[in-house]
Amino acid sequence: MVLTIDTPALAGLLGRVGVERFLRELADRTEADFAKWPTFEKSARLAAHSNVGVLELMPTSNEEWFSFKLVNGHPGNPAAGLLTVTAIGMLADVATGYPRLISEMTVLTALRTAATSAMAARRLASPGAKTMALIGTGAQSEYQALAFRACLGINSIRYFDTDAAAMAKFARNLAASGLELTACSSVAAAVAGADIITTATAAKRTQVVLADELVAAGVHINAIGGDCPGKTELDPKLLARARIFVEYLPQTRIEGDIQSLGPEAEATELWAVIAGRATGRTSRQDITIFDSVGFALEDYSALRYVYDKARELGIGRLLPLVPEPKDPKDLYGYVLGLGA
Ligand code: NAD
Repeated sequence: MVLTIDTPALAGLLGRVGVERFLRELADRTEADFAKWPTFEKSARLAAHSNVGVLELMPTSNEEWFSFKLVNGHPGNPAAGLLTVTAIGMLADVATGYPRLISEMTVLTALRTAATSAMAARRLASPGAKTMALIGTGAQSEYQALAFRACLGINSIRYFDTDAAAMAKFARNLAASGLELTACSSVAAAVAGADIITTATAAKRTQVVLADELVAAGVHINAIGGDCPGKTELDPKLLARARIFVEYLPQTRIEGDIQSLGPEAEATELWAVIAGRATGRTSRQDITIFDSVGFALEDYSALRYVYDKARELGIGRLLPLVPEPKDPKDLYGYVLGLGA
């Protein structure tokens, strides 16, 4: 039997656990997996690009579990009433090769991206950071805001989007959260005085969402929207004066904001900071950038977390997606017995 978690089941799980506890526990779980980075099989994701978007297959494994996610990114989708990002993921056990979990990963990707952002910021932002600017208030945005409160105690969010309706939606969804929310009329107004800047915009082109002159010393930038060839958010001049951290360098060189620095761009892999093998922030003056594109290990951590929690709380449905014949060599007879 394969445990299946559809979107209502994941929503039920979130309701039982609580969104912020979920994000905190997932950040801790992801950090523990990043600390074991050398034990995972890693590869840049397989991407199929079109003029309007991308479909990507993201596998990883260790000696216990194999996971993969199929995810898309189509920035023009919302204009047609569709999500920019959707995903489905799967977990299989390495000992038998059997699939154990199939999960929706559209919401789970938003959760794991937010948990990873907060995990990175815990290591890289200046201690005592209180305010975050959030540029882009689409599908990812509320989860980002809540993860930064859950993991870093960020209580104040200054936000801006080119779409006024998306800003209104963000304010409405978080009205009862207790976060101090300040709507801003431009990127410059949003980032003024912010300790952390998150860019979560979607446009299939090379943009400068965040200009170099807007960023003061000491700021940590969590850039999640520049995640495809030809799709960037940060001013190359800003990249040139910052300390840059990435998930998996071979993948980020192709997909991240550092693509604008050329194919030999250098950056520190975040796992090395977590494992104590590389330095993160070196002073209160550093500008640090987490050039996030999303890596398979984050999906692995999220699927493992959901698998454990769902079984603990009795959530999800067991479906006979794998045949269970008494004689494993008699697949034909098993199917006949089912009435085929
Ligand atoms: P979305 O389409 O729901 O929201 C994006 C928002 O950005 C929209 O509201 C849009 O109006 C706004 N926007 C676009 N250009 C802007 C600009 N110049 N200034 C201000 N606002 C602007 O998309 P989403 O699901 O929230 O995803 C946001 C981005 O994050 C996408 O680019 C997506 O590919 C990326 N993403 C990255 C990861 C990761 O792991 N790094 C994971 C998920 C999504």
